[in-house]
Amino acid sequence: MNRDLIETLRTAISGESEKPITLMEVCGSHTMAISRFGIRSLLPETIRLISGPGCPVCVTEITYIDYAIALSRQPATVVLSYGDLVRVPGSHSSLERERAGGADVRIVYSPMQALETARENPDKEVVFCGIGFETTTPGSAVLIKSAAEKNIGNLSILGAHKTMKPAMSALLESGTAIDGYICPGHVSVITGMGMYRELCNEYPIACTVTGFEAEEILVGILSLVRSIQNGGDPVQNAYPRVVREEGNPKARSLVAEVFEPSDAFWRGLGSIKGSGLAVRREYETFDAYERFGLEVEEGVEPKGCRCGEVLRGVCTPAECPLFGNRCVPGDPVGACMVSSEGSCAAWYNYS
Ligand code: SF4
Repeated sequence: MNRDLIETLRTAISGESEKPITLMEVCGSHTMAISRFGIRSLLPETIRLISGPGCPVCVTEITYIDYAIALSRQPATVVLSYGDLVRVPGSHSSLERERAGGADVRIVYSPMQALETARENPDKEVVFCGIGFETTTPGSAVLIKSAAEKNIGNLSILGAHKTMKPAMSALLESGTAIDGYICPGHVSVITGMGMYRELCNEYPIACTVTGFEAEEILVGILSLVRSIQNGGDPVQNAYPRVVREEGNPKARSLVAEVFEPSDAFWRGLGSIKGSGLAVRREYETFDAYERFGLEVEEGVEPKGCRCGEVLRGVCTPAECPLFGNRCVPGDPVGACMVSSEGSCAAWYNYS
């Protein structure tokens, strides 16, 4: 960490910040980095930082978790998931608890491990829990295409992939007071800058893409302060060493080949039109919803948990009455305390 540079940036932000503004980071990795580096404590009182719906595990709806649990109870079925998702409480259980009870639930680090598992277990159904934003969707698309090409008949994906721009629009439509978005660096590698230009044409908002080091986050905040207070181009790329204007068109076209836009339900934000990605009809044999057709009741959120409001930036984790007492990382009540990118976990670990 370059302390001199951080001090220079802190002074510049304080010097240029006049009226009160609210900035929202919409990336779970930013949420964690902002807490870890103590960025809030470096800013003047005029700048309020709030967290948004950028943690993929946190925004995955509880009914999806219940569906994954129902799948894990099917005979001869292996459920594969990223680590954090396994610990997220469903309405009455979690994948972790099902595994402790004997279900075949395995943690994977890449979608392609699902292909190997399916090959090694031809007598079992293998289901991959595919969640996440633009960054992770290409991996799920490659998995489905590879399974189709290799005629793997016992593999499917339980998909809950989402796209960022509709959620960012929905937040602005909902009336949450946000002057600027600290935009997600990883997602932007895929999307490029175009979606932020569209957003800024549609709403009075500034968007800056930035990286994850303390200095990079402060550069992003300085850029937003300048855009908001002085006018000028509301879209800035403060992460040019990684994010290109055009993003990654090849990855986007791969995703478009396998998935199509659909409505999706977000924890805390509800159903958002066109914010999800559903498996296309040509590949429906790899869609776990089509393949199993299970009936699962609408999920019930944990009593007292304010994850929904935390994800909308309406309240801070510390304003939840369960924070730090009934809800801690070792025994989480809600998804935002489970995920390593969740706001509640970030506040608990660093604030
Ligand atoms: S502290 Fe726990 S119960 Fe409260 S909002 Fe966060 S995750 Fe939910």
